[in-house]
Order: sequence, then C-alpha cells, then structure tokens
Amino acid sequence: MICIWCKKDFDKLSIEHVIPEGLACPDELVRTDVACGPCNNSLSRVDRALVKQFELHTVIHRVPRKNGKPPMINSWKGLRSRMGANGPEMFINGGPGAVKVAGETLQPASKKDGVSDVWIKPDEGTAGFRQQFGNDRRFLPAIHKIGLNLIAVCKSPQIAASARYDHIRSFVRLEKDAVHLSAVLEKETIFGAVTGANMVEKAGRQDPMFRIMILGTTFFVDTSPDQSGLRDFRATATMMGEPSYVFPEPVNT
Ligand SMILES: [Zn+2]
Repeated sequence: MICIWCKKDFDKLSIEHVIPEGLACPDELVRTDVACGPCNNSLSRVDRALVKQFELHTVIHRVPRKNGKPPMINSWKGLRSRMGANGPEMFINGGPGAVKVAGETLQPASKKDGVSDVWIKPDEGTAGFRQQFGNDRRFLPAIHKIGLNLIAVCKSPQIAASARYDHIRSFVRLEKDAVHLSAVLEKETIFGAVTGANMVEKAGRQDPMFRIMILGTTFFVDTSPDQSGLRDFRATATMMGEPSYVFPEPVNT
C-alpha cells in the first residue's frame, strides 16, 4: 500500500481522518489506505492549525474533540473555554492587561492573534468579538491536505501519489513553493455541525475540484497546478453576484 505523502510502500497504513478528527469527520472519510504512521504524525501540526480555526465552532456545536474529549478552546491567547456544570463556559480578555481565569493566565485578545473588536454590554448581558479566519500560515496547507486526501478517496491513492500532485504534496509538507495555491470560502454558512466533502464535477477538467464543508463553513479547493478550475468558478460566482472570500487575498499587480 502506498502512502500518498512519502510515496513509500507499506504493508499497513495508519488511520487517517481526511478532515481532522475533532471537526466531526464523517465515518466514510476515516481511511486506512491513505497515509503511513510517520507521515500521519508529522502532518498533525497542519491538522492542529485547522482545528484551531474551528475551536469556537466545536464549542458552540458541542462537537467532541479527538478521542471523544469535550470541546474546548485552548489554542487562542485571549480566548478560553471549558465545559461547566451548565454547559460550555467561555472567557475572553478584552484587555488591556493579562488576567487569571480558572488557574490560567489569559492574555488580552489581540488582532495580531486573530481576535478583535471585543465588546461587552453589561445592561443587556451580552458580549461579542470577531475571530479572523485564515490568519494562520498553516491554514491553506491544511485545506490542501484535505484536497490531496480526497483525490485518494475519490480517484485512487495511486493517482494521489502521482507526480501530477507533487505541488500539493510539497505545499502541505514544506508549507512553501506554492504561493499560487488558493481556496475560496463560500459566503453562505450553515449553522450546524455539518462536515463532509464532495467532488465538483465538470466535463473536460482533468484535476478534481472539491467542495469541503467543515462545521457549516464551505471551502472550494482546486487540485490543478494552475488553479484554472477555481478561476473559472470564481468568475461564475462573481457574475452571479455571489461574493466569496479568497485565501490568500489576491495581490494587485
Ligand atoms: Zn508516508
């Protein structure tokens, strides 16, 4: 059996969650024919970056984390949560100084760390904040890791391991050499813990495009080296007046 990441042959491969465990990966996307143990371990740093982006969603939707642990927020400097007696409890530090919460030091939420615009209205008993999406440099490699996994699932592991997809492999493993790889975020989100993926079929397209939904948020990923599928898709979406967010943000040349 071939590992799609190191391309080495193994008698037995490791259990791979095509969409990281802890983000409600459906059973059909838990595979034993995709990645070897060492690659699975070394690429877990990429998965963690994606889980961090969705920690807030896991708490809101009460999606269990890895190994069935309760959902939590523990990767953000100014944001924490834990499961209290009456449900999830969330702590946010609006600044300016550090505070102690549940025995831990909580730094002020900052735009640099992806959390901003903290507001509290004591009269109404409401509070809110903004979480920036995609500010982690491993966010795009994590989305493209799912893309190559999906080639293995929807086509075959041999096709995923072919030289045609080396550009994705190097982007995910080395996190460089592929500044042209992008992803599109659909404006519409579903409020629900819905996770899954499907191939976006189009006649004449050699490299598949995938629609990946993670806890209600949808991304489109193009596996072609020139990203032509995504470019066509964006042109159509813009014509139809559907604004979508692109990662990384386009650079005006
Ligand atoms: Zn491997």
